[in-house]
Formats: sequence, C-alpha cells, structure tokens
Amino acid sequence: MQDREALAKEAKRRAASFDLEGFVFGEGPDKPAFMLIGEAPGETEIHEGKPFTGRAGKELMMFLKKIGVTREDVYITAAVRSRPFRVRDKKGRDGVWIKKRYNRTPTKREVLAHAALLDEELARVDAPFIVTLGNVGLARLLGPGYKITDCHGELLTGPVQRLNAARDGYEWTERSYRVLPTFHPASIFYNRKLEGRIAEDAEVIRELVKGVF
Ligand code: URA
Repeated sequence: MQDREALAKEAKRRAASFDLEGFVFGEGPDKPAFMLIGEAPGETEIHEGKPFTGRAGKELMMFLKKIGVTREDVYITAAVRSRPFRVRDKKGRDGVWIKKRYNRTPTKREVLAHAALLDEELARVDAPFIVTLGNVGLARLLGPGYKITDCHGELLTGPVQRLNAARDGYEWTERSYRVLPTFHPASIFYNRKLEGRIAEDAEVIRELVKGVF
C-alpha cells in the first residue's frame, strides 16, 4: 500500500486538467465510531486544510450532536479531495465585474482520479460502518444505480467499489462493508424539507453507534 502523500501526488497528477484547487486529506481516529464520506471540499475547507469547516460543516456538527458523537470520534473524508469550481462573472459592489469561483459537484472522472486515496482509507480505517453524505459518496461506493432518495437511512451490507488494476474504472472489494446513506448536510440549504428525513437518519445512526443493530 502506497503512503498517502504518494497517493495525493498521483491524484493531483491525474486530475491536473480538471478545474480543481487545493487539497484536503481525510482525518480522524484509526478506530472511529464510524466513517463519513462527503463529496469534495469547498472554499473554506481548502483554506483551512480541514474537511467540513465551512457552512456545510456547521450543519454536519449539528447532525453529529444529534447522533451523540463529536468530530473527534469519527473519521471524516470525501470522494474528491480538491475543490471543484466553475468560474462566473460577478458584479462587485463598486460596479466592477470580476471573475469568481463557485463550488460545483465533482464529475465522475474527478472522483475516479481521487479513488486511490479513499481506497487507502477504506482499507486502513477500522470503522464499524460508513455513512455516505449525498449521492457522490454513495455512487462512489455502491455504483451509479443507488440514489439517496431511495435508500437513505437503510443499512446496506456488501462489497464496495475500489479502483481497478488498470486504474480506469472500479472493481468490487472482497471485503464486505456496512454502508448507511444519508443526505449531504448542504442539501438543506436548497431544500429545507429534508431536515426531517436527515433527523430520522441521525436516529438510525445513533442506534447503530449504541450497538442496537
Ligand atoms: N462538503 C464535503 O463533502 N466536504 C467538505 O469538506 C465540505 C463540504
């Protein structure tokens, strides 16, 4: 297994032609209460060098509080480690137009370019289960057939995808993982109605952490 600095260098090389900036490693204990897989860092995260430190991070911390754990209890990572951005013209207060970078959802090719980093964590971190936050993390592990609205709050057990030997797609792990999909914490900024469903998922996770399942 390559060390993570070498994997990061390789991921940056593979993603060099994409509109990505910065780099954030996953973080947390080797034996966490569970592992969280997000989408990609945003502007705040790449400045702080730490996952979920921006607006979505505040929501995530409230979610963890409902579950009864802290940030230090869990391993936090993402499918993509650099910030995917798009450039748009924006008129400043002084009336002058500037070019501004906005967050966007990572593409499948960007997720693939960063796949070896997540594979290293899936192999190394001894998490009793994994919580995917949003469709990107879910599709990275279980393939594009899974959609968050259909399976959130369900505990899915089986192999997950990892980078194949040719490094151009995925294969299934021999090992089985327990995966619990939920919505991305930022999803409520666009759809407040999801709050109730996210709270229900938090309750399922709380029971899992207590070892009830
Ligand atoms: N969304 C993510 O998936 N990760 C972050 O670190 C921030 C927002």
